[in-house]
Amino acid sequence: MRILVVEDEPRLLRSLAKALREEGYAVDTAEAGDDGWFKASTYDYDAIVLDIMLPGLNGWELLERLRQRKQTPVLLLTARDATPDRVRGLDLGADDYLVKPFDLSELLARLRAVIRRAVGRASSLIEVRDVIIDTRARSVMRAGRAVALTAREYAILEYLVLHRGEVVTRTALYEHLFDETDDTLSNLLDVHVFNIRKKLGADLVVTRRGQGYCVEH
Ligand code: CA
Repeated sequence: MRILVVEDEPRLLRSLAKALREEGYAVDTAEAGDDGWFKASTYDYDAIVLDIMLPGLNGWELLERLRQRKQTPVLLLTARDATPDRVRGLDLGADDYLVKPFDLSELLARLRAVIRRAVGRASSLIEVRDVIIDTRARSVMRAGRAVALTAREYAILEYLVLHRGEVVTRTALYEHLFDETDDTLSNLLDVHVFNIRKKLGADLVVTRRGQGYCVEH
């Protein structure tokens, strides 16, 4: 999952990016509304964490422009606890909001929820044959036993499983799982898929030649 965080307070931005990366997300950042809009309109993020009060384009304006083109889930951050602001955000198409200061664990939970809703899932547990993926705990069980995946392997598996039944192209996987700070060595997709198959069964992730990967229904 690749997340864009648009926030002009450098310390908050850094700590959010760090926490999200520790959760296994790929994270891009923007400190101003214009840069945020450029990235949001250029890349296909799985969710955007968007501050309201920003230099340049503000959060409302960015959201309004975005909704004319994309349905990327948006979690608004607002320093104001005023109801009209929250109503305005939801009316403009925000999926959820958090009032600063917020708990990191709450932000992570709400982010997971907006991403799940965007792909039409209510539960954090996903079952594929004898494999159970817990997207809240970021853990995987196979035939009742815990299986240890690396952060990358987990991220790839989770993305494919959330888009179960669809063929996910290699390009889409790169775009959703690797961020602007990644080096090429971490991008060895085939190696990660090979390891996922070794740990969870050869037929869990199917290769569609020339198209991409698929977890079938
Ligand atoms: Ca701000």
